[in-house]
Amino acid sequence: MADPRGFLKVRHRELPPNRPVPVRLQDWRDVHEQLQEGQAFLVAQAGRCMDCGIPFCHNGCPLGNLIPEWNDLVWRGQWADAIERLHATNNFPEFTGRICPAPCETSCVLGINQPPVTIKNIEVSIIDEAFERGWVAPQVPQRLSGHTVAVVGSGPAGLAAAQQLTRAGHTVAVYERDDAIGGLLRYGVPDFKLEKHHIDRRLAQMTAEGTRFRPGVAVGVDVSWSGLRARYDAVVVATGATVPRELRLPGRDLDGVHVAMDYLHQANEVAKGRDVPDQITAAGKHVVVIGGGDTGSDCVGTALRQGAASVTTLAIGRRPPEERPADQPWPTDPVVFEVSSSYEEGGERDYLASTVAFVGDDEGRVRHLRLATTEYQVDGRRAPTPGTERDVPADLVLVCMGFAGPETDLLSQQLGVTLTDRGLVARDETFATTVPGVFVAGDAGRGQSLVVWAIAEGRAAAAAVDAFLMGSTELPAPVTASTTALRA
Ligand SMILES: Cc1cc2nc3c(=O)[nH]c(=O)nc-3n(C[C@H](O)[C@H](O)[C@H](O)COP(=O)(O)OP(=O)(O)OC[C@H]3O[C@@H](n4cnc5c(N)ncnc54)[C@H](O)[C@@H]3O)c2cc1C
Ligand code: SF4
Repeated sequence: MADPRGFLKVRHRELPPNRPVPVRLQDWRDVHEQLQEGQAFLVAQAGRCMDCGIPFCHNGCPLGNLIPEWNDLVWRGQWADAIERLHATNNFPEFTGRICPAPCETSCVLGINQPPVTIKNIEVSIIDEAFERGWVAPQVPQRLSGHTVAVVGSGPAGLAAAQQLTRAGHTVAVYERDDAIGGLLRYGVPDFKLEKHHIDRRLAQMTAEGTRFRPGVAVGVDVSWSGLRARYDAVVVATGATVPRELRLPGRDLDGVHVAMDYLHQANEVAKGRDVPDQITAAGKHVVVIGGGDTGSDCVGTALRQGAASVTTLAIGRRPPEERPADQPWPTDPVVFEVSSSYEEGGERDYLASTVAFVGDDEGRVRHLRLATTEYQVDGRRAPTPGTERDVPADLVLVCMGFAGPETDLLSQQLGVTLTDRGLVARDETFATTVPGVFVAGDAGRGQSLVVWAIAEGRAAAAAVDAFLMGSTELPAPVTASTTALRA
């Protein structure tokens, strides 16, 4: 244990400051200040960890991160040991340490009567320090198995599966239809949350380990799913849940109404220095974002940086409480009112706002959004209250209502995999689909979720693939697929 009295001596949370809003709105760089190793407050925060007999932070984290161990090592200044412990359960702490909502912190035991340990910040400091000092070296397998694996999709699930399988000695190729590797980390999440050099430096390590990358190949179109299965000894489907949930209301087809990913993908390309003809931009426009969540928040930060005239986020439900409500006690992950870095930067938030219609001008461009106040009905359903309609100005409307599931038409036609009744790729407890040798990990099998779950599932699916190819495995499997078990 770091400091037996640490949590009594330091009773508050301390985090590095964000860059000032007027400064960071001028660029796309990370909103956080760069941290230096050994900063006193970081060590003090690590020293607040009580090394609990039953560390609930482990339970909260799908990866089972060894949090008390690396808290202790940071407090002692043993950073090289800390990164070894962190990498033991997490392939990409530089991603989770930046953008994970940190369910470990809401389940931290200290959170019962004090603010929890700043686990996520300690995590990102360990990995940044390790990269800085050159401790993140390629782990080249000593022996090749002679087996080949195709991973389709290069988001966190595909990358985690690929790294585990490459290190186990298999020859792995990652297929990605986009022109760059990274999945939603590359073209969904903006740079101000995750600068892309973090992905590139991890890809350099993976390339040196032997993973092969094939960007610009859409499986099902450029090469058939059945052809891929025939060519490789095993296939991992990690294609994400990319079908947007739509808002089919009058006026949906007007110019200026877009789903979030059409907008964010282009903004990320431009941030990369590309020229995107007819880019969807918020510059000078009244922007309305329908739906909160990570995607909505990312649209707000992007629109503000593009120079929007105004940005309003609409939520159909009530404003969540500021404090953990009684019916969501510790150690659950509660729904509470949060101010992400993007909302800190500006924009308005409107609750109990039901969209009724998109209203356009004679040229077919959206100009207003018709809203009504949400009414909660007896059965809990939500509906617009008659007589409360009002119009708000809207030149750009971004629909951020989440994702319905994966694109599966070609996959099921060409390979015959079974889908669940929710349209996800069905799998058993070990991530195996109904087609022998084909596995699924991440949002494609789980539905829209989080980066930490994608990495956990990628690791677990890799263990299942290794066992399928070799008869047994020593790879860790942090999770089972029990949440979306096979339902034919
Ligand atoms: C805007 C946005 C912000 C988010 N912010 C956060 C956040 O802050 N924190 C968090 O934890 N989570 C966040 N998420 C969710 C998180 O990004 C996803 O849960 C995670 O990326 C899922 O990983 P995945 O590997 O399953 O799929 P993805 O990351 O979606 O990757 C799937 C990849 O497969 C490729 N692909 C699909 N079909 C084919 C094919 N046929 N052939 C070849 N390639 C194919 C796609 O192009 C894509 O690159 C966010 C999501 C969005 C959209
Ligand atoms: S629950 Fe909190 S205090 Fe306990 S071991 Fe985990 S991080 Fe430390």
